[in-house]
Amino acid sequence: MIQKPKRFAFSAIYWLLGLAVLLVLPNLLLQFQAKEVEYSEFKAAVKEGRVIEARLDKEVITGIMYTGPPEEAGKIRELYSRVKEKGGGRSFWSPEGDSSLDQVASRLRSLAGGRDGLILFKTVRVDDPRLTQELDAAGVTYTGVKESGFHQLFWGILLPVAFWVGLWFLLMRGMGRPGAGFLSIGKSKAKIAMEKDTGVRFSDVAGCDEAKEELHEVVEFLKEPDKFERLGAQVPKGVLLLGPPGTGKTLLAKALAGEAEVPFFTISGSEFVEMFVGVGAARVRDLFQQAKKSAPCIIFIDEIDAIGKFRGGPMVSGGHEEREQTLNQLLVEMDGFEPNIGVILLAATNRPEVLDPALLRPGRFDRQVVLDAPDAAGREAILKVHARNKPLADDVDLKAIAQRTPGFSGADLANAVNEAALLAARRGADIIAQRDFEEAVEKILAGPERKSRRLGDEERRRVAVHEAGHALVAINCPNAPPVAKISIIPRGKAALGYTMQLPDEDRFLVTKGEIEDKICVALGGNAAERLLLGEVSSGAQNDLENATELAKGMVCRFGMSELVGPRVLTRETSQFLKGPFISSETDTLSPELAAKVDKEVDRILEEQMRRAEEILSANKEALERVAEELLVNEVMSAEEFRRLALGEG
Ligand code: ADP
Ligand code: MG
Ligand code: ZN
Repeated sequence: MIQKPKRFAFSAIYWLLGLAVLLVLPNLLLQFQAKEVEYSEFKAAVKEGRVIEARLDKEVITGIMYTGPPEEAGKIRELYSRVKEKGGGRSFWSPEGDSSLDQVASRLRSLAGGRDGLILFKTVRVDDPRLTQELDAAGVTYTGVKESGFHQLFWGILLPVAFWVGLWFLLMRGMGRPGAGFLSIGKSKAKIAMEKDTGVRFSDVAGCDEAKEELHEVVEFLKEPDKFERLGAQVPKGVLLLGPPGTGKTLLAKALAGEAEVPFFTISGSEFVEMFVGVGAARVRDLFQQAKKSAPCIIFIDEIDAIGKFRGGPMVSGGHEEREQTLNQLLVEMDGFEPNIGVILLAATNRPEVLDPALLRPGRFDRQVVLDAPDAAGREAILKVHARNKPLADDVDLKAIAQRTPGFSGADLANAVNEAALLAARRGADIIAQRDFEEAVEKILAGPERKSRRLGDEERRRVAVHEAGHALVAINCPNAPPVAKISIIPRGKAALGYTMQLPDEDRFLVTKGEIEDKICVALGGNAAERLLLGEVSSGAQNDLENATELAKGMVCRFGMSELVGPRVLTRETSQFLKGPFISSETDTLSPELAAKVDKEVDRILEEQMRRAEEILSANKEALERVAEELLVNEVMSAEEFRRLALGEG
């Protein structure tokens, strides 16, 4: 329906462009072939009488010039005017002239008596009010150029009008049929990636056996739909993969398609969200249309929260309407296909809590598979998968690495293996050793070493005292995990030193005593600086932040304060994402309650600070020993630290 205007708009533009080219072409050609001369050279030639004819455009001057000896110029000029008279008085370079440029050139040559002395020239016209006087004086035939009426009409009116009309049609088309929109970006054929075989199998995904088990049924269905149909069994239409970033959701979706040996259509949620309302919806429609044609297959919508956000939720700047339409279209499409047609919709998100409930109801994404951060065994398995094709030294103990990396996601582990390989390569080794893995893990935890960041002696001493403080408090707190390493080599963006503590196992719960010890250890650095150096520094900022967060958690979330009682005042707003900006949301508190919270947080922090100070005062000598030793060696192992701290050996 809107096809016609499109054709009209386009053909009109082409016609006009073609016309424009035809009009300017002769002039352009002439100018291209003419020899560029400097204005001063042109003026000199005028004075010497060598310029025979000139045409003054607004910006350029073209014409004919004799480059031979000036005394011959008069003769040449006579010859030229005779030829011109024969030709009816027209200058041969005018667009109306009948000669081609080759003819012009050969005629010029023959005029100059076989010599190449007569040339077409052009020069940039400068502001020179006395030019015409000088041309008159030199007897040059010259002429100005008046743009023809048609020229003016064309450039001034026809072309602009055509341009705006064309643009208007393009925009109209975009609004009229969403999806075939502006310059047809909405035509998503190119954007929907379809893979015949993803090349990933379940064996490439490690450490999430439960998830794989749940998806196995889907694989079976895609391979043998009849088996299910015969029994009248309903296979889920949609499977939602949930989990923190980097736990292998995207990978698992690909593995599912690979395992079932079906095509894999993938599009990321954010790609649906376009500037123009309706484009996203059209993409959804396209996606399902294409997929249905190649059933059995898998449609995978990654990061579905980009479109699936709770409708009517808080307005995020722009794109609201668009997202809603896209989501509606998705819901319509999901309802519109028969369960047994052989298309399985897979989606992934790390923000399930923001999804619209309509997406999660039965008949849509009714199956949900959770991918958690892997446990020690899972981490070992993932490390093994990624180390599969790499040459490992005999001393490599992936189990030990797995134990050192609680909280690492699959992506972190993949990264660690890669880092280890890079470090080994940098060393010039052929195989990856255990220490490469250890260094890689440290690098990921604390950032790359910055040996070039030279600290002054004063500051180095402060860092050593600070880290020794953390470590000594840790070793004297019954519930704190053991110290694994201390270092005062600057790392990453900000760390000037660090004390690494390793929990020996993955923990799902923490007790009150453990949190208190954590706070105490965090404050230890600060306390040590005050004890040994007399005053504190800004270096403890991060520690204080952590301590405050922990204390707040005790009071507001875990019911660990008697004064406030067993109530929750802060809710986690994201199940999987952690961080200061997304993790929690505080209810509006009454002034009395808020005062109580403040009081309790203060009390906890003060208590732990006092405790840290007491521990360090009681172990002042050990503190000094550890700090001195750190200044010498920069790095201290767990054993060395125990020896110095406990005065053993
Ligand atoms: P997500 O989509 O959950 O954010 P990805 O699937 O994109 O995470 O994972 C990123 C990378 O991390 C993968 O390409 C893979 O190399 C690695 N990875 C993550 N989880 C696993 C796992 N369970 N087994 C093997 N590799 C994994
Ligand atoms: Mg992903
Ligand atoms: Zn610190």
